[in-house]
Amino acid sequence: MTSFTLINPATGREFREVPRASVEETDAAIARAVVAQRSWAALPPVARADALRSFARVVEQHVEELAQLEVLNSGHPIGSARWEASHVAQVLNFSAGAPERLSGQQIPVAGGLDVTFHEPYGVVGIIVPWNFPMTIASWGFAPALAAGNAVVLKPAELTPLTALRLGEIALEAGLPEGLFEIVTGSGSVVGQRFVTHPDVRSVVFTGSTEVGTDVAAGCARQLKPVTLELGGKSANIVFDDADLEKAAAAAPGAVFDNAGQDCCARSRILVQRSVYDRFLELLEPAVAAWRVGDPSHDDTDMGPLISASHRANVEGFLEGTDIAFRGAAPDGDGFWFAPAVVLAQPDDRIAKEEVFGPVVAVLPFDDEADGIRLANDTIYGLAGSIWTENLSRAVRVSRAVKSGVLSVNSHSSVRYWTPFGGMKASGLGRELGPDAAEHFTETKNVFFATD
Ligand code: NAP
Ligand code: MG
Repeated sequence: MTSFTLINPATGREFREVPRASVEETDAAIARAVVAQRSWAALPPVARADALRSFARVVEQHVEELAQLEVLNSGHPIGSARWEASHVAQVLNFSAGAPERLSGQQIPVAGGLDVTFHEPYGVVGIIVPWNFPMTIASWGFAPALAAGNAVVLKPAELTPLTALRLGEIALEAGLPEGLFEIVTGSGSVVGQRFVTHPDVRSVVFTGSTEVGTDVAAGCARQLKPVTLELGGKSANIVFDDADLEKAAAAAPGAVFDNAGQDCCARSRILVQRSVYDRFLELLEPAVAAWRVGDPSHDDTDMGPLISASHRANVEGFLEGTDIAFRGAAPDGDGFWFAPAVVLAQPDDRIAKEEVFGPVVAVLPFDDEADGIRLANDTIYGLAGSIWTENLSRAVRVSRAVKSGVLSVNSHSSVRYWTPFGGMKASGLGRELGPDAAEHFTETKNVFFATD
């Protein structure tokens, strides 16, 4: 098969064919990127900065178009999709500040001058999942380009449309041909080729822990650096001294946003036993008020799941669980799923495995030590939230939870100017933040003898 068919998840209808690249086509894209990278890296820093600012401006002009494509292809609510497209422009603008700031060091030595340079890797391969197609792609390509690399990007088979459009927008904005190559196709062909091709010098992978582990093993055989953003089973820890009304009102958004298809989803709510019943009483109306429906409507909170097979997986997680209550979902041909709140025990499958759907497990805990123990009782360590009005407790618990991205009395995980990434089985390396572009370089040390 030389193409694959896209399906609108809100209607179940097929709407477009997209080419499936072969190994030869992937190699050709990498070869174009190798050539483009040489001239790109040779440009004055300000020229790369200007090019990225112009890329950002053209993305800004196409926010509505990109957002509509994401509604069609991924079923994201239009409000979220607009945020995602604007975020891409912001990540580009932020990255445009990097070329002139990639300063090396001057290190004191006898008999000469010692300086370091941040050299680009060359071609960076970026492998993107289907859950946040635009934003996750931009976290890789914007800083990688800023640091003087070329990029080959493989979107997920299910959701390639915004990446394809961003590739065109880059050219419209004046980025050179070959510098930012979008290669659509399957992970086992295109993604694997990024891992094995000697001219792809660094790989960024976001997706499942299972595939990410294979990608890392393949990169190890090539001695190729790899950044991994993988799964999560993040805890939302609610202490008895929390503002319970606020915590309960915020909890649905923290796990049901993007239909739970979010690596940062707070999919375990841990509630101190003394306020457990009260918290569930407050959570029920908040879940009932969560609006699931047509993603093209402005007031929709949550659209469909990405595919029929993913919905079947998510449904499978509910078997044999104790469902406390559920939200609503439309009927019809889309891949709809009503949000579910499940009462769980620590060893239940629903409390251990990543569902990647709108299902949350609620578990009681006794005291601070027990809450921390339960929060860390997972192979993952991506995100998490801590609800308490006690500052000392907030500091203690945030230092004790083994996760890369935590928030206190909030569920925020992503700001492009702060670091993002996971511990344990949730990943390796960090994206975004002040050092984002530097992560796409390797340090060269040069000693100049003066004697
Ligand atoms: P996945 O299989 O890990 O896919 C992620 C990306 O890797 C896609 O672009 C995929 O391409 C590609 N890929 C697949 N096999 C590959 C290989 N052997 N070598 C190189 N690249 C490869 O994830 P998924 O199937 O989309 O989702 C499965 C589960 O992963 C989800 O249910 C969820 O638990 C987790 N997940 C986590 C995140 C996250 O943000 N951390 C995102 C998505 C999924 P194709 O699209 O062509 O398969
Ligand atoms: Mg897969």
